[in-house]
Amino acid sequence: MAVPQNKVTKSRRNKRRAHDALVPGNPSECPNCGELKRPHHVCGACGHYAEREVIAQADEIDLDDDAA
Ligand SMILES: [Zn+2]
Repeated sequence: MAVPQNKVTKSRRNKRRAHDALVPGNPSECPNCGELKRPHHVCGACGHYAEREVIAQADEIDLDDDAA
């Protein structure tokens, strides 16, 4: 079994992990609803991309019209 040749000290280990933190994304504001969204992605809140609707939202479909 492979065994580390030298002990990695707490200092060296922690300095290595200093760069492991996750960085937040670069959110941009949806031009339609103002919600923060990932750049170059469809807005998860309203389904718009490039100021037009590309994914119909469930709350915008009125099911009562079909039942009548
Ligand atoms: Zn939106």
